[in-house]
Amino acid sequence: MRILLVEDEPDLGAAIKRTLTQQKYLVDWVLDGNDAWAYLENKWTQYTLAIFDWMLPGISGLELCKMLRSHKSPLPVLMLTAKDRMEDKVAGLDAGADDYLVKPFGMAELLARLRALQRRSPQFQPQELTVGNLTLDYGNNIVVSQNTAGNKQEISLTNKEFQLLEYFMKHPNQIMTTEQIRNQLWVVSAEPISNVVAAQMRLLRRKLTNSGCENIIETLHGTGYRLNFTP
Ligand code: CA
Repeated sequence: MRILLVEDEPDLGAAIKRTLTQQKYLVDWVLDGNDAWAYLENKWTQYTLAIFDWMLPGISGLELCKMLRSHKSPLPVLMLTAKDRMEDKVAGLDAGADDYLVKPFGMAELLARLRALQRRSPQFQPQELTVGNLTLDYGNNIVVSQNTAGNKQEISLTNKEFQLLEYFMKHPNQIMTTEQIRNQLWVVSAEPISNVVAAQMRLLRRKLTNSGCENIIETLHGTGYRLNFTP
């Protein structure tokens, strides 16, 4: 699950990003509205949710909402604002925001609002994703494998391993190129290491193999990877 966070207060932005990352969200954080639109224009489908501060350099959070909706994007938007007057809320909702959080707020409330938005959104994120004998449990942030006898085993994964496995499980039997994986799972230009995908794949596979899930993800040399699944 990828979130675009647009917040120009460095301390608050960093705190939100840290909290969301701990919850296994992948967060792209930008500090002004123009950068935000560069991430969103024609590319909003890569995001599950967006968080816009109202007052931003460049394009305001309110304008970003309007621009998304005028481009027919249904991306759920949570607005952050110091404004708590009723007319401001009405303006924000008219612009297409889905919910509001008035500053200052606690991170627990932010997470609760995001979960509620996900439940209400058309891109509703289910609590579990099962492919073959692997189940991602989003509520508890764990992965469970089940053997043919029905015995379940929890696999302990890092945030990035969880996201990587989720990406494959959402695209079973499809070839995912190294570039696609890198673009999907790593923040743009944050980690310019060419073999980061291969290294992360090795770590994920080792854990899957240790849990009795060998050879689920196939390497197609020079092309990419594929999670093989026979329904
Ligand atoms: Ca601001």
